[in-house]
Amino acid sequence: MAELSRRMRALVQPHLASIEPYDPAFAPCRINLSANENTYPVPEPVRAAIDAALAATPLNRYPDPMANALRDELAVWHGLARENVCVGNGGDELLFNFLFAFTGRGRTLVTCPPDFSEYAFFASLVEAGAVAVPRDPETFAVDGDALVAAAATADAVIITSPNNPTGNLVPLPLIERVCSACPGLVMVDEAYGEFAPAGSSAVPLIARHDNLLVLRTLSKAFGAAGIRLGYVLAAPDVIDVLAAVRQIYSVNVLTQAAATAAVRLRGAYRPVVDQIVAERARMTERMAALAPAGVTVWPSAANFLLVRVPAAAEVRRRLRDEYDILVRDFSATPGLAGCLRLTVGTPEENDALAAALTRLVTTEAKELS
Ligand code: PMP
Repeated sequence: MAELSRRMRALVQPHLASIEPYDPAFAPCRINLSANENTYPVPEPVRAAIDAALAATPLNRYPDPMANALRDELAVWHGLARENVCVGNGGDELLFNFLFAFTGRGRTLVTCPPDFSEYAFFASLVEAGAVAVPRDPETFAVDGDALVAAAATADAVIITSPNNPTGNLVPLPLIERVCSACPGLVMVDEAYGEFAPAGSSAVPLIARHDNLLVLRTLSKAFGAAGIRLGYVLAAPDVIDVLAAVRQIYSVNVLTQAAATAAVRLRGAYRPVVDQIVAERARMTERMAALAPAGVTVWPSAANFLLVRVPAAAEVRRRLRDEYDILVRDFSATPGLAGCLRLTVGTPEENDALAAALTRLVTTEAKELS
């Protein structure tokens, strides 16, 4: 979308006059490895259960506002109670509602960029003061002491683990230090949590820290980005706030039915997640082998890899135009010069991407420079 018209710039709230909507830079391609979706088929028994649940769902009635059947299923999974769960129309809606409720004009949100760009965007919508604790420019590790210091005066903190787009985890002891230091609320965004090693999740810390929220989504490991279902786990009084500010029917009946069926059969996704993790290791090796051609790859605990390549924007364009493969270009993002983000797909998709990238950065390297 272009800038707002002159007329609209005069009519919207002043702080919205220069707002630019999130642009995922989507283009239809044969292989789409640009949005960290799960490109594997939904496991057959899950697909059948979802289809049956959808077919049995009446459309004439409003949804259960809080989606209690789904909340119960999520609560059982995570060893919590219904009162610890709030669902939303994707994690995005919950992120916005979190910032809407707990930050705003004159309040501060601490984040650790480069991270998920929606945080800064939503913070600007609600006029929160954004305090950045930048990551190490080489390793993307969070500066723990700086984060704890910033958290000590913050209304809200968002920690992404694994982080998008850098792929690395934040250690749980640091998350606990931040929770203890922060007088406000600390959200750990675990959109990619299922791809991380066991024991990396902050969910068990909720019992000890009543200012901790953990955000999860069915958009990644569950291969259900299209149904738009995210959820927050937190102390009951935090959930009460999210419940109070949300649009009551934001999670529609079809999404509730599909998500409940999928979460009930969550064990069926294990082989898919395991395969993505194995493919991640294989792709990491393939990218690391391109080091002589100037390629850097960072270790990832998510379903994507961040790579630095020569002439990144050009490589991304040629992958799209000549190979029909879409990846995400982060080379214009501060701290991510030369970086592309590659979603880990099926073995065939990964092979096609690795072969095309190898060609572009080796045999054709001269053309690019
Ligand atoms: N957090 C992070 C870090 C993400 O990358 C995403 C999706 N790109 C989300 C939250 C939101 O996901 P969704 O709205 O699809 O649940």
